[in-house]
Amino acid sequence: MTESKQYQLAVLNGDGIGPEIVPASVKILDAAMAAAGAPAIAWTELPLGRSAIDTHGTAVPAETLEALNNVDGWLLGPHDSASYPEPHKSALNPSGTIRKHFGLFANIRPSKAFPGGNAIVEGTDLVIVRENTEGFYADRNTFAGTGEFMPTPDVAIMHGIITRAATERIAHSAFQLARSRSKQLTIVHKANVLKMTTGLFRDVCKEVAAQYPDVSVNDFHIDAMTVHLVRRANKFDVIVTENMFGDILSDLAGEVAGSLGIAPSINSSDTHAMAQASHGSAPDIAGKNIANPIAMILSSAMLLRWLGAKFGDEKVLAAAELVEKAIEATVLDGTATKDMGGTSGTSEFADAVAAHITIRG
Ligand code: ATP
Ligand code: MG
Repeated sequence: MTESKQYQLAVLNGDGIGPEIVPASVKILDAAMAAAGAPAIAWTELPLGRSAIDTHGTAVPAETLEALNNVDGWLLGPHDSASYPEPHKSALNPSGTIRKHFGLFANIRPSKAFPGGNAIVEGTDLVIVRENTEGFYADRNTFAGTGEFMPTPDVAIMHGIITRAATERIAHSAFQLARSRSKQLTIVHKANVLKMTTGLFRDVCKEVAAQYPDVSVNDFHIDAMTVHLVRRANKFDVIVTENMFGDILSDLAGEVAGSLGIAPSINSSDTHAMAQASHGSAPDIAGKNIANPIAMILSSAMLLRWLGAKFGDEKVLAAAELVEKAIEATVLDGTATKDMGGTSGTSEFADAVAAHITIRG
């Protein structure tokens, strides 16, 4: 067994419910690393988002990007850029800026129902692999800094970009993931209407499929896919799709599995990784200690798994497993936040998860 290394991880708390769910995740990772006998994580908190506008005059300080380049990974809280004052509101949002800066092309979004976890479709255990750099949330450099433009005040135009290179890259990530799971991959597109763009996406994914003959492949239009997920989410394994479809479909899949508040995600390239819940900043419930921290905690566990695979570090993988099992045990105990039908607060729920880690470790 290789020696476990000491990881340097950054923390970006974010807006809305971020300052509630991100510190809870830090606390749980600390407990899990200790229980797994791994060196304590060295954390660095960095400015980003609304608070950085006040302190640094920009939502994405250059020093934050520089510091992120020198850590092993980071936890990113959600951002509510719609609430920022101009010109920050119209700029690419903090999470998009970071994804772009570090080329985090793969957004891996699992939706897994917990026993006793209020799922709409019991047994849901799927992963959406969302292409993160193009599609209809296209490269925002075109059309003067945004993916949209208005030739007159009464006409708005958006564009979508699909390239063979980016599609091949995300297809390989999805097929490799499918290989490690049930060897079943679903391509989601809208090639009957968006023939060129999503047609190219489908065709390139099917070409890549030839290199993975052990994985069975099917495909659906995005609209039909929403229908299948609502009643039969438990029949799907890995789903690969373009950027906007993946964003929408993963909110749906999270809720079908129990709550959007349990749906984690990781954004990665071959060299960098960022843990980020699938949900947004939930301004409607911010500051009330009622947000579900599961999505952020599980995203953090995904980051531990990514580090474990990268460094061949069994202790950090053991820590990730402790986190996942502790959440399952907590939910099974009947402890749940309001979105899952329970009465626990964010901090109470996180304390219960930490207690399970201590007991098991
Ligand atoms: P974004 O564009 O940033 O993804 P969004 O419009 O999809 O944002 P969210 O912030 O994800 O919106 O919130 C959608 C709904 O889900 C809101 O009603 C919110 O309160 C709820 N929600 C989101 N995250 C959680 C959570 N962790 N716990 C409980 N409820 C949540
Ligand atoms: Mg959303």
